[in-house]
This record gives sequence, structure tokens and C-alpha cells, in this order.
Amino acid sequence: MTSAREQYEAFQARGLKLNIERGQPSDQDFDLSRGLLSALNDQDTHTETGLDLRNYPGGVAGLPEARALFGSMLGVKAANTIVWNNASLELQAHVLTWALLKGLPASSGPWVQQRPQMIVTVPGYDRHFLLLQTLGFELLTVQMQSDGPDLDAVERLAAGSDRVKGILFVPTYSNPGGQSISEEKARRLSALQAAAPDFTIFADDAYRVHHLYPDDRDVAVNFVQLCADAGHPDRAYVFASTSKITFAGAGLGFVATSEANVTALSVWLNAQSIGPNKVEQQRHVQFLKRYPGGVDALMAAHAEIIRPKFEAVNEALKEALGDSGLARWTSPRGGYFISLDTTYPVAQRVVELAAQAGVSLTPAGATYPGKQDPNGSNIRLAPTRPPVAEVREAMQVVAACIRLASEEYLAKQ
Ligand code: PMP
Repeated sequence: MTSAREQYEAFQARGLKLNIERGQPSDQDFDLSRGLLSALNDQDTHTETGLDLRNYPGGVAGLPEARALFGSMLGVKAANTIVWNNASLELQAHVLTWALLKGLPASSGPWVQQRPQMIVTVPGYDRHFLLLQTLGFELLTVQMQSDGPDLDAVERLAAGSDRVKGILFVPTYSNPGGQSISEEKARRLSALQAAAPDFTIFADDAYRVHHLYPDDRDVAVNFVQLCADAGHPDRAYVFASTSKITFAGAGLGFVATSEANVTALSVWLNAQSIGPNKVEQQRHVQFLKRYPGGVDALMAAHAEIIRPKFEAVNEALKEALGDSGLARWTSPRGGYFISLDTTYPVAQRVVELAAQAGVSLTPAGATYPGKQDPNGSNIRLAPTRPPVAEVREAMQVVAACIRLASEEYLAKQ
């Protein structure tokens, strides 16, 4: 039997160059939306209702047709939806920045004067941490569980101080674990008794329609409705985008919230822009409306491309690590990521060994604020961009690195 070191060195000798670091679509995914580039022609200057796409007027909340389409994706009406420009992260930043400077409608004043804290789930999305920390929020972490955030912890934190202004997390097919919040937990969160009157749910629903098994999908919750039912109509902002539906670098970000919040956010957005890019919105509306079977069919086509990659990760890790007890990993039914935990605190060493064997992984620690994973064990796997064969090979390398790093660790004990 070959030793862990021999096996690792055999991979190293192959001179591989594989990257499963960032959650990007593959070119095959992009090809599904090539029609976006020709969805408008040089005669398409107006919307169906006669709005000129070229001029300023049109409203700061987005084209009515885009608000209706993307609102329906989030389970709300057009009146509850703002469609903005590329990137939902930018919209998240807008709401958070305005909350800091002015407060939200339910606030007694600007959050920045209250040394605001925000709850985040771990392991979580590095860009959420980056955004919040860059804006000056103090982060409070709660564990992401198989059915959503640890709500006992959230309730305790939210009740404990009015500096706790809310929670930012991914409700459906979370980054990186792929967990979806249960209806029961979503109800509890919507009804939660917080010390802050303006406690807010920032739900980054980036993967709401990204099912890997379209016939057996996780049911996405509707926080706008649940919060209204619970008597907190203005508590939820639900963000999403077309970044993993059409083009990652040239899509549309949108947000669903109460009509009162739409009005307030429109006032702020209007102070900085006469309105979002109407041509891009019209292009997306026309492309998605004309796609045979609509968004559902487009997402099912993505699933055909992405599902084999997720299954390759699971199969390769199972085959190489089996019941060795050296690692556990999630088996998401949607989204873009898999979360792996090594049994021993060797994530950093695994990522380092993988790099030396030509496999780029998300840096260890990235899934925790300040890059500080208290267990030193979590690694985010992002299998969507490379072809299936590369994903499989990369996972064989990762498994060999986990074996070697664990062996090194145990030898030092
Ligand atoms: N939210 C989550 C949870 C993500 O995983 C990503 C992409 N990795 C984004 C937001 C980025 O979305 P956008 O391109 O709309 O800013």
C-alpha cells in the first residue's frame, strides 16, 4: 500500500494546474445565455408600454417589466421590488450604507452612531464579511446548521442588545454549505423579539433558483411575506441577482422588501442616480421571457451542467477518503459550493499542499470573519467552473492532501 506521502508526491509529479477556488460559472453555463447579447436590436429603443430606454425618465426602482419578472422570482409583487444594476452585493452595500448614514425607516437614528453589530453565519461568504467589516460593523457569528442559522443563538444575541441590527446570511443553498433555511426557522426569525426596533433580516438569496435536482428542490422561504405575517412588515430585505443565471459579470441585482422600504430606498438611490441601466434591464427581460420554458428551464439547463460536478466531488472524496474519518463534507442540492471540514485542524496545510501540487483552493479561513477559523478545519470547494474530469482530479488531490496533512499532524502530537 502506498503511503500518504508517496500518493501526494505522485500527484505533484503530474504538474497539474487546476482551480476550484472561486464560484464562477463555466463557459458552458455562459453559452446558455448567448442570446442575451442579441436580445435587443437597433430598433428596440422602447419598452412595450412605450418607455424610451435611451432617456432618463423611467423611475429609480427599475423598469416595470423587470420589477415584475424578478419580483415574481422572489415571490413578491413588482411594487415590492427594486431592480438595480449589475451585482446584488452593490445593492446590499447601498442598503447597509444608507442604514449607517440615515437609519432604516424603523430606526431612531443613523446606525453608525450606535456602534452597530451584525450577525453572520459561519462558515459563510467571505464577501459578506468583507463588506460588513469595511463598513465598520462588528460581526457576531452563529453556526449555519443543516436547516439554517442556529436560531437559539440568533434570538439570544438579538434580544441581548439594541446594537445588534440584524442578520446577513444566505437563506437558500447557502455559501459554502448549501444548507437551506426551514420554513419553521424562517418563521421564528421573522417573529423574533429583538432589542433593536430596527432589527433587519438581510437575506442574500443568491441561489434561490439554483436547484441541482429541479424535481426535488429545496423550497425557498418568503421573508417579505413571513415578516408581514409576523407583524414586522419592514424587517426583511431579500437580495438576488442574475449573476449565476445569465452572465456573472454583466447581470442585474434586485431586492424584494416592503413597499415602505421600497419608497425609502428609492429616495436614497435617487439621491445618487437618476436610475439604473434600462437597456440592460430590457435586454434581460426580453431574453428571459423568450427563453423556452423561461427561467425555470434555463436553471434546469444549468443544473444539467453543474450537477455532475457536484456529484464528482462527492464520489471522488468518498472513494479516496471513504470511512477514514479524516473529513466530512456537505452534499448540497443546489447552489454553487460544498463545505468540507477536516477532522484535525489542518485546513491551512491542506490548501498549502494542494497549491504545491497545482490545485488552487479557496484560502483556508476565508469562510470566517477575519479569516480566523476557530477550528482550522473548514475549506470551501467551488466545483462549477472546471470541467467534470478536472473537478474529479482536483478532488483526488485534495483527498491526498487531507491524508498527508492529517498524518503530519498526528505525527506531531
Ligand atoms: N451572494 C452570494 C452568497 C454569493 O455566493 C455571490 C457570488 N459568489 C454573490 C452574492 C455575488 O453576487 P453578485 O454578483 O450579484 O454581486
